[in-house]
Amino acid sequence: MFTIDKTKPVLVTGASGYVASWIVKQLLDQGYTVRGTVRSLEAKDRYRHLERAAAAGPGSFQPVAADLLVKGAFDAAAQGCEVVIHTASPFLGVGVEDPQRQLIEPALAGTLNVLDAVQKAGSVKKVVLTSSIAAICGDNADLQRIPQGIFTEADWNESSSARHQPYPYSKTLAERAAWTVAQGQDRWRLVTINPGFVMGPSLSPRVDSTSIATLRDFLRGRFAWGVPALAFGAVDVRDVAAAHLAAAFRADAEGRHIVVSEGGSLLGIAQAIEQRFPGRYKLPRRTLPKALAYVAGPGFGLSWRFIARNIGLPVAFDNTKSQTRLGLRYLPFAQTIQDHVEQLLADGLV
Ligand code: NAP
Repeated sequence: MFTIDKTKPVLVTGASGYVASWIVKQLLDQGYTVRGTVRSLEAKDRYRHLERAAAAGPGSFQPVAADLLVKGAFDAAAQGCEVVIHTASPFLGVGVEDPQRQLIEPALAGTLNVLDAVQKAGSVKKVVLTSSIAAICGDNADLQRIPQGIFTEADWNESSSARHQPYPYSKTLAERAAWTVAQGQDRWRLVTINPGFVMGPSLSPRVDSTSIATLRDFLRGRFAWGVPALAFGAVDVRDVAAAHLAAAFRADAEGRHIVVSEGGSLLGIAQAIEQRFPGRYKLPRRTLPKALAYVAGPGFGLSWRFIARNIGLPVAFDNTKSQTRLGLRYLPFAQTIQDHVEQLLADGLV
């Protein structure tokens, strides 16, 4: 029987990030001791919200400094843990000039570094890796191979490369490498969470996460003249965190999990904002013709090749396994967006 000792510390890498902060908070609320890695202990403003969450609830938070690219950096932090949740990985859509250095190395070498620490610790029974649906579907070229046109956990991104969609490529390489390591041993089990585009209220006032930056751009009127007709799988950050906890502590959790609530679109984000805040923001009211999407796309981190293959086309993901095996009940997309705007307003960030 696969059991986890809930009195042991849980290691969360990249604890101060947007998604990880919710994972840490939900663990703290349930009384766990969380060892959270951050790049610098000096940058207290990046993890103060986690210390506050620990002070307000039954759990405790221990910040530990660790960089993905420093070999052995996670070794001490993994000692004595039975659960390791590895979220740290750069998520960049725009501003990628050197994909190898900015995305691929930290994702791939970082994952191997963390798994090396897991192997050395000897105490770890479960590793939950924050992967992405980007490791399942890179672009519409992958859809051509899918018989029913709906992606499942059996599918892998085969269309991305360092030059075309480097972020999805980084996530695909990292997840594949993790499965290779996991299959070479039998002391710990790997479970992956593959979320869609994550949105929803942030626990910190940081605005550098791509998810948060995107919503702020909508509210600042950056896309008032229209958005590309881009469809994507979307999910609430609170649901993504709950998926990680279920993957960590449910004895029967295994394999990959698509974590997507429903189909989202760039125009759908604007419509959800307008519904709650009518007339308040200069929001896009239409999708751009494809020719104009080539002009606007790079502002969203979309390459011309991606636009050529994807704009105006639907994309669908089967989230059945996340509901049946992890017990997820998803928040609706409109509520996710609206709660996120409320948080940005409350924190004075728009
Ligand atoms: P985020 O807020 O930018 O978090 C990224 C985290 O990675 C931060 O904690 C960051 O540390 C850490 N990190 C980056 N480079 C590092 C390095 N060299 N050494 C140590 N830590 C490093 O983005 P996020 O959206 O929460 O993403 C978290 C995870 O979710 C990533 O694995 C991402 O691929 C995955 N994901 C995100 C989405 C989404 O839509 N947001 C969707 C699917 C999957 P600092 O705090 O020091 O910057």
